[in-house]
Amino acid sequence: MELIFEISKNGKKAYTLPECDISSDKQIEQKYLRKQDARLVEVSELDVIRHFTALSKMNFSVDSNFYPLGSCTMKYNPKFTEYLASLDGFCMLHPLLPQIKGGEKLSQGALTIIYELEKLLCEITGMDEFTSQPMAGAHGELTGIMIIAHYHKLKGEQRKIVLIPDLGHGTNPASAAIAGYQVRAIPSGKDGLMDMGCLKKELTKDVAAIMLTCPDTLGIFNPKIKEIADLAHKAGALMYYDGANLNAILGKARPGDLGFDVVHLNLHKTFATPHGGGGPGAGPVGVKKELAKYLPIPRIKQDKGELSLDFSMKFSIGNIAPFYGNFLVLVKAYAYIILLGGEGLVEASENAVLNANYIMHKLKDYYDLPFKRACMHECVFSASKQSEKGVHAIDIAKALIDKGIHPPTVYFPLIVKEAMMIEPTETESKQTLDNFISIMIEIAKLADKDPQKFKEFPKTTPVKRLDEVKAAKDLNLSA
Ligand SMILES: *Cc1c(COP(=O)(O)O)cnc(C)c1O
Repeated sequence: MELIFEISKNGKKAYTLPECDISSDKQIEQKYLRKQDARLVEVSELDVIRHFTALSKMNFSVDSNFYPLGSCTMKYNPKFTEYLASLDGFCMLHPLLPQIKGGEKLSQGALTIIYELEKLLCEITGMDEFTSQPMAGAHGELTGIMIIAHYHKLKGEQRKIVLIPDLGHGTNPASAAIAGYQVRAIPSGKDGLMDMGCLKKELTKDVAAIMLTCPDTLGIFNPKIKEIADLAHKAGALMYYDGANLNAILGKARPGDLGFDVVHLNLHKTFATPHGGGGPGAGPVGVKKELAKYLPIPRIKQDKGELSLDFSMKFSIGNIAPFYGNFLVLVKAYAYIILLGGEGLVEASENAVLNANYIMHKLKDYYDLPFKRACMHECVFSASKQSEKGVHAIDIAKALIDKGIHPPTVYFPLIVKEAMMIEPTETESKQTLDNFISIMIEIAKLADKDPQKFKEFPKTTPVKRLDEVKAAKDLNLSA
């Protein structure tokens, strides 16, 4: 592809600006003016369209390719919710409107969406109150852990430790550490579940919370959650639920009923906001009644059918986001939940779990399965068999790219050697899954017969194998 600078020709234009009616040299002092004209591209509108369309095609997206990236829930999100979020009544609202005199009256629609969404999330998770303000999963974790820290502090306790299984998503220990805690990792046993003996030993009076993902990053639902929660509560610690994997259990189990005190959800994984590339997302946080007074401000209050913002909560952890979070993401989640209803959400989870188990079953004779049990919404294979021939998880990932499929997550979770974590999501058809399965089988056979061939992959991408460490440390986007 030619770069846009290379097709630039003097005099070509992609815009028409209104005539300038002030003289720029009169307004701006000479010393601030550029000595030479800036080197800008001169291209036509069509050149611009082709340039950016070509760039967009160099990338994978759920709209164009199957994207089974484990842990990330890269599912298709209905365009219907995008349409609703783009309505002027939502996207042209000024965030200060509810805070000016008389503005609350004009903001009742938007406040109702946030208020009702928080109520729906309470119902879905079994929690008592929710804040929809955090803007990502990790931001929700930090908010939740700050609430936990506040709770212990106001009880006069100086607990210093947060326990997290070694399977935990990287953001879990990071959030706990940023909130000022020491993190202790609890190892997983041979069955892929948290080592209970080790947990009991670590669960001292110094522990503020246990952070768990359920189902975890192996796609396993820990049957001992209730026992873990009872142990934590007996030791005075709280239970934190990382709900980024909630799309596996919607309508089947509620973290609130399992003994969790604080949860965060990823609306941009489970509830109809596309993600990747950094956002925008939303990581609402739900808490049990005893913790509600610590939620961030403002809270939305209802009085005689009127909604208003309450900034006066004495025990709140304070502000954690400008205004009220990513409002348009909340609009999409609200519309999606209403559209699917209770039964639709259950069906979404059932299909997510069915699809993952289908792939696991069909591929288990070709790739090593470190934990042989029914999975939830994702399954984790190991490329250990293939790596004996010199074909590693990364090579299989590159081969998939050439077949038009986004690779699964590789080398995570860390406790699985040569991990390949596959999350097909509920939105994919049997046809797509069968195509993926046959390609994975083809790749396994090629790894056995001609492992050298993998060095050539990927062949179809604009850049080939990158030095990933150098690419991260010595970023050069213009070469
Ligand atoms: C994605 C994810 C997170 C973090 O969410 P972000 O929105 O990316 O910050 C946390 N935990 C799990 C299990 C996840 O999959």
